[in-house]
Amino acid sequence: MATNEAGAMKPVAEEVVGLLQGLGVSETHWRAGTRAVHSPITGETVAHVAEASPAEADAAVERSVAAFEAWRTVPAPRRGELVRLLGEELRAHKTELGRLVTLEAGKILSEGLGEVQEMIDICDFAVGLSRQLYGLTIASERPGHRMMETWHPVGPVAIITAFNFPVAVWSWNAALALVCGNSVLWKPSEKTPLTALAVQALFERAVRAFGAAPEGLSQLLIGGAEIGAALTDDARIPVVSATGSTRMGRIVGERVARRFGRSILELGGNNAAIVCPSADLDLALRGIAFAAMGTAGQRCTTLRRLIVHESVYDTLVPRLAKAYGSVGIGDPREVGTLIGPLIDKAAFEAMQTALDAARAAGGRVHGGERLQVGGHADAFYVRPALVELDEQIDIVKHETFAPILYVLRCTGLPEAIKLHNGVPQGLSSSIFTNDLREAETFLSAEGSDCGIANVNIGPSGAEIGGAFGGEKETGGGRESGSDAWKAYMRRATNTINYSRALPLAQGVSFDID
Ligand code: NAD
Repeated sequence: MATNEAGAMKPVAEEVVGLLQGLGVSETHWRAGTRAVHSPITGETVAHVAEASPAEADAAVERSVAAFEAWRTVPAPRRGELVRLLGEELRAHKTELGRLVTLEAGKILSEGLGEVQEMIDICDFAVGLSRQLYGLTIASERPGHRMMETWHPVGPVAIITAFNFPVAVWSWNAALALVCGNSVLWKPSEKTPLTALAVQALFERAVRAFGAAPEGLSQLLIGGAEIGAALTDDARIPVVSATGSTRMGRIVGERVARRFGRSILELGGNNAAIVCPSADLDLALRGIAFAAMGTAGQRCTTLRRLIVHESVYDTLVPRLAKAYGSVGIGDPREVGTLIGPLIDKAAFEAMQTALDAARAAGGRVHGGERLQVGGHADAFYVRPALVELDEQIDIVKHETFAPILYVLRCTGLPEAIKLHNGVPQGLSSSIFTNDLREAETFLSAEGSDCGIANVNIGPSGAEIGGAFGGEKETGGGRESGSDAWKAYMRRATNTINYSRALPLAQGVSFDID
């Protein structure tokens, strides 16, 4: 077992300072501010960041409006050039930024690097998109008329992000918003402001290489929920993209709607996988292990519910329990570690509360205990938990943002789909089967009710090419690939009369002489 429970761990603070300096982040941002930043690896304080005051946030919105008014007139392919340069900066600094993600969010290095790769990928996607913001030509019912649909920049876009993808989620939104001709205001998680500062420094380098971008085109506002709330309520911001818990989205969605703004909500998931009798169990085991235990269960797409056909249950579940018992848990900087720490004590407590509830309802819990890694009292490492249950009890219907996998038995696909869809969230889902009928049923209108549905891979680890997001309490928003860009633009329907007559639609007559 690779759990490194004994032995001292290298301190994190010194390395954080080196990375921030290497990435060009000015000390004024992180040396003497009021908000302490902790690394989940050791629990130590690694920086003190300066927070934006309400007056500073207000001035930033004002600058953002002015930046938008200038940026919207820049041709879209030229806007794409700035995003291309941002992608170049990310390529050049992938190692440092990826490592900083690991130090600040606690995910293993390969996932930290993967997160930066995702940023590079969305930049590439957005550069191509900058030449493809296509509208439609529509047949008009009137002679001598032409109709079309055009897409225009919409205004400043606020981006509120969660701790678990501290930089990638910004890029999904910002790369699209920028090529669409908008300015951007970013409120990162209060738990991960350092990676946000680093990304802002890289963006500013890209701007310098670009030449004349308007001041304040992309700004960073560090602070807590109150800064997020100020952006949410600000009528100068037509689009608020908010990624985080359903609790947060319920507040943000309502407040943005009250002022007739548009929100793109990316909220909690409660993702399931169904394992059918024909499944390749070796492949399923690997897919389940990554989806359920990876990122220490702190992905929105983490596999939280496993629905296993009774004919393969006794083969699969013991093998899974064995994998849970031997997975490498420890310092996410070390090779061989697959599971790093939870983000903080509150996450650990939420996990224990959920496990207690499952036990009280008759659940058989494997794992879930705290591990003393490196002897740091303020770092929270846990063994992932597997919980066998006879029914989908209440606690299973909540997203507990920790590595708990609830396992349920089913007798056939209809029952499995019923269990699968029987939760309030609707983000990601998967089925393991080699039966074409089962796979297609799962993907059909009577199958998974999620925004993402996969066959023979787990629910986590999406690519940027597809639209990303989910239904029900996940919020309904879509970010990233496909036509998600449309949410960052306003649509105009145009009718052009090139005749000398003025026929009215629907045959209406209105002759004034
Ligand atoms: P969180 O909801 O606690 O915080 C997310 C962000 O919202 C933070 O920046 C926070 O400061 C801000 N915020 C909180 N209250 C606010 C308010 N009233 N008004 C405005 N802003 C407010 O979430 P978290 O703990 O950082 O992240 C974990 C959650 O995020 C999980 O539920 C996870 O599923 C979800 N998540 C969803 C996606 C997705 O794409 N669906 C992606 C990543 C994370």
